[in-house]
Amino acid sequence: MKRLAALSALLLAGAISLIAAKPHQQNPQPPLEIQKVKDNLYVIANRGGNTAVFITEKGVVVVDTKTPGNGPDILEKIKSVTPKPVIMVINTHTHFDHTGSNSAFTGAVEFVAHENTKANMEKMPAFQSEEGKKFLPGKTYKDKLSLLNGADKIDLYYFGRGHTNGDTFVVFPALKVMHAGDMFAAKGTPLMDTSNGGSGVEYPKTLAKAAAAVKGVETVIPGHSAVTDWNAFKEFGEFIRDLVAAAEQAKKDGKDVDKAAADIKLPEKYKGYGMGSLKANVTAIYSELK
Ligand SMILES: [Zn+2]
Repeated sequence: MKRLAALSALLLAGAISLIAAKPHQQNPQPPLEIQKVKDNLYVIANRGGNTAVFITEKGVVVVDTKTPGNGPDILEKIKSVTPKPVIMVINTHTHFDHTGSNSAFTGAVEFVAHENTKANMEKMPAFQSEEGKKFLPGKTYKDKLSLLNGADKIDLYYFGRGHTNGDTFVVFPALKVMHAGDMFAAKGTPLMDTSNGGSGVEYPKTLAKAAAAVKGVETVIPGHSAVTDWNAFKEFGEFIRDLVAAAEQAKKDGKDVDKAAADIKLPEKYKGYGMGSLKANVTAIYSELK
């Protein structure tokens, strides 16, 4: 009986740690897969957020570095498609599954992120040691920043709070591709990480600004799921707009979080969307409406 209790406690602890590790962490060690998006742009999936690999004249630009410990494998995948060195790492936002392997990118590598993401990263233990500080963003921006030139040009945009308070949309204009980071949770409810300055109330406004301001993009890389297109990104913006409006209405109607989450029914066109974080989303939105 005692052993059973101990086992139950162990299982419970396991379940709790799994819940705590969500929403970004996936299976322990699935293989890294490199996929060609354009002639000089690849995506490496699994073990954290989608890593984009952009091969420029001067060298390789990497967007997001997955969970800790994946640096050598990311570098090996990059070597399988180009002999050029990595010259730049862009972090779309602070989370450890997007910044976790920054420290593998040594040498003459420039780290770039939104200024709020830099501030968030400075609070992470991984970036507090003298060694760790080297992998913090050395270049930051406030609203927009263009990097490199001509066919290699990269535009970084910040449109406001949502997933965190420092999410960058990375646009490769010559390729008509955008890496949207975790602002774009594909077909499902996102994380509204209020502990890193994220906002449910602002989330749809930020996505609407992105959809209106970014021109010419055809292909979109979400934070974690399969590469998709601009229409899917625009639809996700509408999904979040409708979800947040429904939560705001529920609050006006005097419903508590549980009742709101149980009652929210979105239009039929979103029936394929995963609603796993609906209650967490409602909680975040309610906390801002008080
Ligand atoms: Zn994230």
